[in-house]
Formats: sequence, C-alpha cells, structure tokens
Amino acid sequence: MTTSRSKAEWQALDSAHHLHPFTDYADLTAKGSRIITRAEGVYLYDVDGQRILDGMSGLWCVNVGYGRRELAEVAGRQMLELPYYNNFFQTAHPPAIELARQLVELAPAHVTRVFFTGSGSESVDTAIRMIWRYWQLRDQPQRNIIIGRKNGYHGSTIGGASLGGMGAMHKQLAYPVGGIVHIEQPFWFGEGGDLSPEEFGLARARQLADKIEELGPERVAAFFAEPIQGAGGVIIPPASYWPEIQKICDRYGILLVADEVICGFGRTGQWFGSEYYGIKPDLMTIAKGLTSGYVPMGGVLVGERVGDLLGSEGGEFYHGFTYSGHPVAAAVALENLRLLREEQIIQRVREEAGPYLQQRWGTLAEHPLVGEARGLGFFGAIELVADKASRQRFDEDLNVGMRCREHCFNNGLVMRAVGDTMIIAPPLVMTHAEIDELVEKAWKCLDLTA
Ligand code: PLP
Repeated sequence: MTTSRSKAEWQALDSAHHLHPFTDYADLTAKGSRIITRAEGVYLYDVDGQRILDGMSGLWCVNVGYGRRELAEVAGRQMLELPYYNNFFQTAHPPAIELARQLVELAPAHVTRVFFTGSGSESVDTAIRMIWRYWQLRDQPQRNIIIGRKNGYHGSTIGGASLGGMGAMHKQLAYPVGGIVHIEQPFWFGEGGDLSPEEFGLARARQLADKIEELGPERVAAFFAEPIQGAGGVIIPPASYWPEIQKICDRYGILLVADEVICGFGRTGQWFGSEYYGIKPDLMTIAKGLTSGYVPMGGVLVGERVGDLLGSEGGEFYHGFTYSGHPVAAAVALENLRLLREEQIIQRVREEAGPYLQQRWGTLAEHPLVGEARGLGFFGAIELVADKASRQRFDEDLNVGMRCREHCFNNGLVMRAVGDTMIIAPPLVMTHAEIDELVEKAWKCLDLTA
C-alpha cells in the first residue's frame, strides 16, 4: 500500500475510526494498536521496522508462509481473466469446479462434494443448515438438536457463536440459535483430576451418549466439534476420545461434523485432523489454510451420506453467498494446494519439522512457570501455573497470560494467550533455525513474565 503515515498517525486514525474484532478498546486506546506493514516467510514487520516471528500463522491460516509470489501472480491473472462470477442458478466457472474436484480427491474417500463459502463462520452456518436440511429430507424434521462442546470455537456469526461454547460470546447473544446444547471438552490438564488421560478421554466422550439419551435419540441431529480445539487453548484430546465419539455417532445414527477450519491443510501433519484421528465425519468445515489466508475462502466438504441427498433428489437448497466459490479465491486455493503438495509441506510437518518443533517446544516444560507443555504437528500450548506440582493457577486478576503475550510481542514473537494458556500454530514452512528462535524467545519471555 502506498499511503505512508507516521506510527502515531496510524494509531490515532485506527483508534478513531476502526472497530476491531475481538479487541478491548480501553486497552487499545491506552497502548495504541501495533501496526503491521509487511511480512516475508515467517516474519512480520511493524511500522517501526521491528521484525517479529509469527508463531500463530496470522490467525492459524498462513500455512505456506508469507510472500509467496505464486499466489499473488495467480490472483492477478485470474482477476484479469474472470474477476467475478457467481455459482448460483445453474452457472459455474472452471476455478470453482476444478477446486471442488481437487478437494474431493484429497479428502477422505467418502467425501464426494464441496459447498464453497467466504469464511470459516459461513462454513459453520452452512453446515448447520445442511444438518437441518438433511433430516428434513429424511422425513425426520424433529431431529434438529445439535450437540457442540463447551469452550469450542466455531466463529462469530450468530450460528457459529451459538454453536461454539465460549461463555463470553454467549453472554452477548440476545437470542442464540435454539436447539444447540453443549457437553464438556476433553481438556485433561485442566479438568482431568485423578483420571489417566485415556480414562478421562473415554469419560468425556461418553458424555455424548448420556446427552443423547437425556434429550431423546430421535431428536438429536448431529455432533459438531473441532478435532483439536484451537481457540479454546489448543486442547488435544486423549487418544481414546475420538474413536469413542465415532462409535457413539454410529450407534445413534447422528451426523458427525468436524470443524477443520484450523486443523485442515496440514496442521496435524495430515491434510485433515479427521484423518489424524481416523474418524469419518459426514461434513467437514474448512477455511483458513485452504488459501493460506491470502484471500478469504471457506467451504464444507460433504460426505456421500449427506451429499447424495442434497446433491441429487434434495431439490433447491435455499442457501448460498455472493462469494461462494469466488474465482480469484478458488484460483489462489488451487495454487496453494499445489504448493502444499509439490513442496511436500504436510509430509514435512508429519515426518520432520513437526517432530523437531515438538521436541524443542517440550523443553519449555522445564521452565518454573510451566505446568504442561503439549503439542502435536504444528500446534503447541503451555500452561502457566503458580505452582507446578499442584497445577495451581495464578489469580485471574494478575493477567499473567496477557503479560506474557506483551513480553513476546515486545521481544519479536507472536504467541497468543488464552487465559493463562500460551499457544502457537506457526507457518508450516518454519525452518529448524526459526523453531530454535521461537523456543528461545518463548523461554526468555517466560523469564520476563515470572
Ligand atoms: N471454526 C474454527 C475451528 C475456527 O478456529 C474459526 C476461526 O478461528 C472459525 C470456525 C471461524 O472462521 P472465520 O473467522 O473465518 O469466520
């Protein structure tokens, strides 16, 4: 962008005119926003020229890293050839058709169709509407209750915020979407008590069966969850959890929906988190890593059980977005998939860079402030505690997580705070040297926070 202003000018204009997502305004006005002007590889650069290692891939999305010319060039070419046309009313264009074909090819075998959206939240809302539509078409409209999880995150639209289990978001919804209930999350460190991780995973999964029985199995339409809860604090379920959930969904015949908005496109070392856990969701919501965040795009991967009904005898599905399958976004997604495939980026996460990150990240467990260091693929989390042995947390008013985050930013590292859980999800192309830098900076910032 060519307009150039001083940092103070940008901050004053930002504070005066720009309403930000998920931002505390007292804090923003007091400190001024951080103005990021450019990025390259795994580094951001702010208006002062400070170089910041991005431990969060933006918002879990820049999987192939910043500054990939191939993506910019493909977008430019597509804008000149066909910048926009819709996929409504029996029209389509090659980028959307080709992207649907390629996604079906790389998704698990039972996925046969794709519905495109503009974001993760739109994907979630689309999946909710598909669930309702599916049971209507099956002549069981009374099956309309969807079970989500406490502390799950499924976006910010009214549907996504209702389905998510974030207490603070629910408080601001005057009318949450009805027919949504929540069970507990499989967060062993925080809630496992004396149970082993495996026992705890089973116990939490069996809450799904208990909830279905309580509601009446004939009323339950679907279970909807992230394979690994991202925004909730990188909550990696014990290995016993997902197989049990799959069994329960099969036993009651309810739909299983995996929200792959974060897990999809390589973060676990597989194309999808569902593959990592060996589950077979009927619907998979995607966004973020689909285009590595270069342009907005999302979608729902639809398994044959739902797709055969919706996509053939289902009649018109009164749903869609102006930008569903946008040609520029689809062209960028296709090129992004090519990079992921040809540069073997996901394979590298699985076989080499992921294990290295986990080995280095795990050393943070030795820090006096850290109660647990966990991770998987290119995810990581550390739990900040006042007492390691008893896992006692800090007083909430101390805002230890936020203080740690500030120290990180000031020392050239983006690490996110979810309460007192510090999380990372770096670009999948991070090198060993950059991983070393990330862990060294994280240690230093923990020292500053202590
Ligand atoms: N689902 C999950 C699992 C997410 O993490 C997010 C965003 O972080 C969303 C849905 C919503 O995506 P978007 O912000 O693109 O609407």
